[in-house]
Amino acid sequence: MSRKHKHIIVGGGFGGLRVARLLANRDDVDVIIVNPQANFEYHGSLYRSANGTSPLETVIPYREIFADTNIEYRQDFMIDIDLKAKRIKLLSGNSLDYDTVTLALGYEPEYFGIPGMREFSKTLYSLADALELRRSLKYLAEISFHKSTPARVIVAGGGPTGIEVAAAIPYFFELITGDRRVEVTVIEAQQRILGALTEEFSRTVEKSLGSAISIRCGQKVIRATKQMLHIADGPSMPFDIVVWTAGSSANSYFRQRPDLFEVDRKGRAIVDQHLQPTDKAAYVIGDSAAVQYSGTAHAAIEMGGYVAHKISNDLAGKESSVFEPTEPAYAVPTDHVSAVAMDGPKLLAGGQGWELRRKLDLEALTLIMPEAAARSHWLSGESLANMFSPTVKRI
Ligand SMILES: Cc1cc2nc3c(=O)[nH]c(=O)nc-3n(C[C@H](O)[C@H](O)[C@H](O)COP(=O)(O)OP(=O)(O)OC[C@H]3O[C@@H](n4cnc5c(N)ncnc54)[C@H](O)[C@@H]3O)c2cc1C
Repeated sequence: MSRKHKHIIVGGGFGGLRVARLLANRDDVDVIIVNPQANFEYHGSLYRSANGTSPLETVIPYREIFADTNIEYRQDFMIDIDLKAKRIKLLSGNSLDYDTVTLALGYEPEYFGIPGMREFSKTLYSLADALELRRSLKYLAEISFHKSTPARVIVAGGGPTGIEVAAAIPYFFELITGDRRVEVTVIEAQQRILGALTEEFSRTVEKSLGSAISIRCGQKVIRATKQMLHIADGPSMPFDIVVWTAGSSANSYFRQRPDLFEVDRKGRAIVDQHLQPTDKAAYVIGDSAAVQYSGTAHAAIEMGGYVAHKISNDLAGKESSVFEPTEPAYAVPTDHVSAVAMDGPKLLAGGQGWELRRKLDLEALTLIMPEAAARSHWLSGESLANMFSPTVKRI
């Protein structure tokens, strides 16, 4: 029997897992996936873990994800790649040779050098961040309950993450104290929230948020201090908690190796229509690839599917068509169980939007893991974390 093709996937997020799932259990391909954590974290539910729902929805062990496959999982970190030798070097000191490799390294938070922002803000890029935000919000709800002025939470960044996290905060305060008394403000540098989506989408979201959340657009943050956000050409804004959701950039590895990868201004690797950089044994996919719609799970999954298909075709000696991205169906939560969601050309709001959002979450998870694992973790998002001892009582 001829030697098996060895495909290495670096990064166990949506993109990497989709490639792995589609190439698993074949007689002619060995798949190895390298990723530093023991668990996959579903970022779409982080805002909910931050606001009281069970973290089981967010954290899915890789052993459950690969239970029905022959994939080899290496819990390790790639420190470098030698494209000529077709070899990756790992933090453990080991190295692995490959025939082809997928780099699906994802993204990193970006603070744009704004002084004080990293030190004084909370963010939402991991479960650890979500639990830290939840701890801080819970404490704030408890101590502000007996004060005459409401607590002030500012969310910097009016993209989907900023809106969903802001929209869930009044509900979380209600869980803790029995009322929604909290001032939540979203500030956005552009002239409208959700600038990457249509104007109609932004307007519908603003309408759905109603008076629960204040929105201030055209406000550029220039500095953060312990309890004050400084705005260019505007009054400073005091806060109790500020959450930074206004920036992310591609994994910095690509910027660190300009000799191997050309990058765009967001640091994303430039790839051709087959999702390949100049080296033709490598693929770059997901948030790290300079491809239309990258930055969404939908795009990462779609790119992963393409790469698996292209490798299969190559092994069978068949030509592949070029990668053609499709537009994601955006769904942005606007309260605990309501959302604005794209249903084809239509926008659904409220409970109907929320149902669609939940459906999209489940669909994305079932494309990267066994259906039973996807469903059980998804369902745990219906339950609250075990954290609501009645610590706050009305006097
Ligand atoms: C708060 C938040 C909410 C979001 N909500 C949604 C949503 O509702 N819908 C949606 O479509 N998208 C959402 N996104 C975006 C979505 O999560 C990303 O687009 C998607 O995860 C990108 O997938 P990826 O495979 O490119 O990278 P990631 O999912 O980021 O995975 C990258 C993986 O690579 C690993 N890695 C990095 N460097 C190395 C290395 N050197 N060696 C080995 N492993 C490495 C990382 O540890 C990580 O596990 C959200 C993002 C955030 C932050």
